[in-house]
Amino acid sequence: MKGKLIIFSAPSGSGKTTIVKHLLSKALNLSFSISATSRKPRVNEIDGRDYYFLDNETFMQRVAKGDFLEWEEVYPGTCYGTLKSEVERLQNSGKHVLFDVDVVGGINIKKHYGAEALALFIQPPSVEELRKRLNNRNTDSQEVIEKRVAKAEYELTFAPQFDHIIVNDILEKACQETEELVTSFING
Ligand code: ADP
Ligand code: 5GP
Repeated sequence: MKGKLIIFSAPSGSGKTTIVKHLLSKALNLSFSISATSRKPRVNEIDGRDYYFLDNETFMQRVAKGDFLEWEEVYPGTCYGTLKSEVERLQNSGKHVLFDVDVVGGINIKKHYGAEALALFIQPPSVEELRKRLNNRNTDSQEVIEKRVAKAEYELTFAPQFDHIIVNDILEKACQETEELVTSFING
């Protein structure tokens, strides 16, 4: 049987990566769709594990070849995209596929797959809390953080288009709620 698809979208800093990591540690037969990006790796990131890191030119060549299921210029000058080959590879291995994509990408994947996909929106308790989390994470410059916070208000307006909204206030609660939704979707 082909694996199902579970989409996670949220403004940067909402806790998506943390919640996805929690789910992947559970015995739910889940695998993570590794996206391609034109941004540079952060210090703790590894090519082929966190992302396929491509330079701008290679990224656009692959766009032209039609290699992407979806792609977006998520931040000015920085593109992210889901490779068709990645989804096929994971689905053919019989695993369910988790996507961590921006809100527009999430809606596009949901439209493409319909009931085969569950679209979850991870919402921060407030934009101020989001800024705090990005500061505490300590992975981005102040300039990058402010760009991400500025975009968050716009991204939050997409939440009602998702199948479920999970408010990530207390992490343990959000992880539990997510696990319940995902378990019932893959067993349904
Ligand atoms: P995203 O993938 O959405 O950008 P992360 O998972 O990297 O977000 O989380 C951003 C930061 O906030 C990380 O440092 C993470 O440890 C922290 N964090 C995640 N969830 C919570 C929470 N519920 N309360 C406080 N901090 C959190
Ligand atoms: P980061 O730079 O913090 O890793 O990711 C920035 C944003 O890009 C996040 O909102 C993340 O979900 C999004 N993103 C990552 N991969 C993809 C992808 O394949 N497609 C789209 N549309 N967005 C992505």
